[in-house]
Amino acid sequence: MKKIYEFETACVHGAYKAESGEPQQLPIIQNTTYRYYNAKDVADLFDLESAGYFYSRLGNPTVNALEEKMALLEGGTAGLAASSGQSATLMTMLNICKAGDHVISSISVYGGTFNLLGVTLQKMGIEVTFIDQDISLDEILSFNKPNTKVLFAETLSNPSLNVLDFEKFSNAAKKMGVPLIIDNTLATPALCRPIEYGADIVIQSTTKYADGHGSSLGGMVVEAGTFDWSIDGKFPEMTEPDPSYHGLKFYEKFGSIAFALKLRAQMLRDMGCTMAPMNAYLTHQGLQTLHLRMERHSENALALANFLQGNENVEWVIYPGLEKDKNYKLSKKYLPNGASGVLTFGVKGGKTAGEKFLEKLELASIVVHVGDIRTSVLHPASTTHRQLSESEQLKAGIKPELIRVSVGLESIKDIIADFENALK
Ligand SMILES: *Cc1c(COP(=O)(O)O)cnc(C)c1O
Repeated sequence: MKKIYEFETACVHGAYKAESGEPQQLPIIQNTTYRYYNAKDVADLFDLESAGYFYSRLGNPTVNALEEKMALLEGGTAGLAASSGQSATLMTMLNICKAGDHVISSISVYGGTFNLLGVTLQKMGIEVTFIDQDISLDEILSFNKPNTKVLFAETLSNPSLNVLDFEKFSNAAKKMGVPLIIDNTLATPALCRPIEYGADIVIQSTTKYADGHGSSLGGMVVEAGTFDWSIDGKFPEMTEPDPSYHGLKFYEKFGSIAFALKLRAQMLRDMGCTMAPMNAYLTHQGLQTLHLRMERHSENALALANFLQGNENVEWVIYPGLEKDKNYKLSKKYLPNGASGVLTFGVKGGKTAGEKFLEKLELASIVVHVGDIRTSVLHPASTTHRQLSESEQLKAGIKPELIRVSVGLESIKDIIADFENALK
């Protein structure tokens, strides 16, 4: 699809287009293999000399349509779908980092990402430094080392709800000569397009808002196509010959889609964390209404945040769309069309009162999930972030009484009534 269309149109029509007499809806192509009539065609595909499908671990037309749609929505050159958000982050890191390399990440990241970077990658010999994202540019630069390969953060952090200062982070990444890798899960491209603010790679857990209906796990990596991988010889994986492809040099051959192509040709090939066609179909279905849903999720969340702020049984509320929130300025700058559907708050009476409150909700469900059309609540300290020590939890912005709410698309009147009743 031509890029001249507006974002809303791209959500509805992007990537897949039916030819005359073909299904109007994206077809689910459920297969593992593709038939060829001569060996040379297959050999060319294996050598990356031609583009096409040969085995569904590496590519499938339904999955490919989703990848193209998300690349279009994020404003990147290419996308790669993964079996989950976690595998998207894992493959992204391993695409350019090996044992002995160093990653700098904001500490305000999703609990699963914190474990992946802080435990599993470290076991593989990749060193990770977690930083407070409020520190100054110079302080960020003070953590840079010759082996630093990545600067990582979330647009809107889950669940601490910090809005990233893109200007500071993209300056830092440029000064360090490393890609800025952004997890855009909670904002989605409907509310923020990190590439416009200097991100080089954008990751999403499509499990959340992209799917939006709680039906499919998935992840996505989108490449901006602007990063110079030949910088200071820092990324030999991108610039040096790959023996498993007869000495092919990814950056030289594929330029602005080299990162995504290498993800597919090496990471998907070797690790196999591929998205299934059915999940791609359902996620694509979700994306068709992403623009509408994010608008309403944001509207409902702001209304609920305002209600909670004025309730006598509520200790505090965090929502970047609230004027007195510490992230309000950044939210106005980077999330001008809405601050997404997630908010957190503390019930008076601490952890025990919080747990009791959750049990008294009727409409809102207790689920380990965000981004669903149904209003969902969770107590991170005892669930998603329980593997972290209490001081790590506090550093990641998780107080013991914190309740995370993913505000759904029900009538705001019903949502507020449910919360009011449970608080009482
Ligand atoms: C859920 C989530 C992930 C992990 O995604 P999965 O699809 O659950 O593997 C990564 N980042 C953020 C911000 C998330 O909310």
